[in-house]
Amino acid sequence: MKDTAKHQGLRNQLVSVLEQKGITDKSVLDAIKKIPRHLFLNSSFEDYAYQDKAFPIGAGQTISQPYTVAFQSQLLEVKKEHKILEIGTGSGYQTAVLCMLGAKVFSVERQKELFKQTSVLFPKLSIRPKHLSFGDGYKGLPGYAPFDSIIVTAGAPFIPQPLMAQLKIGGRLVIPLGEEVQIMTLLIRKNETQFEKHEFGEFRFVPLLEDKN
Ligand code: SAH
Repeated sequence: MKDTAKHQGLRNQLVSVLEQKGITDKSVLDAIKKIPRHLFLNSSFEDYAYQDKAFPIGAGQTISQPYTVAFQSQLLEVKKEHKILEIGTGSGYQTAVLCMLGAKVFSVERQKELFKQTSVLFPKLSIRPKHLSFGDGYKGLPGYAPFDSIIVTAGAPFIPQPLMAQLKIGGRLVIPLGEEVQIMTLLIRKNETQFEKHEFGEFRFVPLLEDKN
């Protein structure tokens, strides 16, 4: 579990790459500068951890590309103490970025193996999400709602209704929508019934899977 000056140097380079690709939110870039992404990957990927790429993390899943993590985090407009629901904890890297931004993070993962891994990893790194949950993200976390914002980190074929219902008025839902290719979509809740929709181009995610049971 080492984080060295060499890793820090690679992170600084990664942040320059993200800036060149158009990420402007300083607090997001700062969080990426601080989070040791190599510790969220199997050690065999250590040398590649600061490339702007997705990598396998087990259970057929991937850690999102840093650009995607930065892009989604920027769209959330995270403020300190914001209550954020994340669907798809995966490696926990996106969770860590949100925690570093000062948010209270509630994260749901449906793969037991990954849920267990992150439950052990976060305390080791002194990263403290408010709540980690093993379950189906399509349902959200009604017991902890409403949320200031919601981020879905897997490709969703449609917007799950419970997620819209669990968003505060004025809150932001960031969700990649589509089957093969996803369109990054931002919904801003205007009132009880109305949502404003913005679209931000194509991304590729592993699918948000519907319940196995
Ligand atoms: N934020 C993660 C992304 C992991 S990939 C990271 O940066 O590592 C997407 C994750 O969503 C996978 O871990 C996958 O198991 C999870 N997932 C897929 N369908 C889900 C569902 N219905 N509910 C919760 N998590 C789901």
